[in-house]
Amino acid sequence: MRMIFIGPPGSGKGTQAQLLSQRLGLLHFATGDILRDAVAKDTPEGQRAKPFMTGGQLVPDIIVNDIVNARLRSKNRPVKFIMDGYPRTLAQANSFDAVLKEQGLDLDAVVFLNVGDEEIVRRNGARWTCINPECKATYNTLTRPPLTPGRCDLCQHLLYQREDDDPATIRRRLQYFHEQAAGILDHYARQGRLIEVPGRGDIEAIYASIVKALGK
Ligand SMILES: [Zn+2]
Repeated sequence: MRMIFIGPPGSGKGTQAQLLSQRLGLLHFATGDILRDAVAKDTPEGQRAKPFMTGGQLVPDIIVNDIVNARLRSKNRPVKFIMDGYPRTLAQANSFDAVLKEQGLDLDAVVFLNVGDEEIVRRNGARWTCINPECKATYNTLTRPPLTPGRCDLCQHLLYQREDDDPATIRRRLQYFHEQAAGILDHYARQGRLIEVPGRGDIEAIYASIVKALGK
């Protein structure tokens, strides 16, 4: 099984990709981890990616493509994998198609974990953190609310929303995701490989839907 896993930030994509890789015996090919690894090992690709990563910028397509290609052309290349975080752009998708073809590896499926923007904002925007640096307890107003709204149960300090959980930040990230993903989803739909799975329910329910959609 070789698949690409796509989902908006905050959709639970990473959790599902990890479960799939463990249970189906696939390599979890997380490009973020591979990039960090290449930088840590100071490989030629890592040296090229480093300035962008340390500057907090997106690593250009050509560098990410080279890193993925190098991995797929290596002697111990993965043959069963789940791509998580790649391809992220149409240019990356085209490059990935080419290297898979070159290596004689066919792609089985492209899974799109679809969770609506409002649901993602609702889920992530429900997270609150204790402002006390000695405590930092976290709460979720949907699943684990504090006893007194806006106050930490443990130390009575105020709760606040971290910038990552702020609805405006989440919406900006989602908008960027949609801009990038539209072209990729269309690309794989044309190839007849796209499978859309609604990301509703708990972790195991979503996992079961994905496995069913894959026909496994
Ligand atoms: Zn606290």
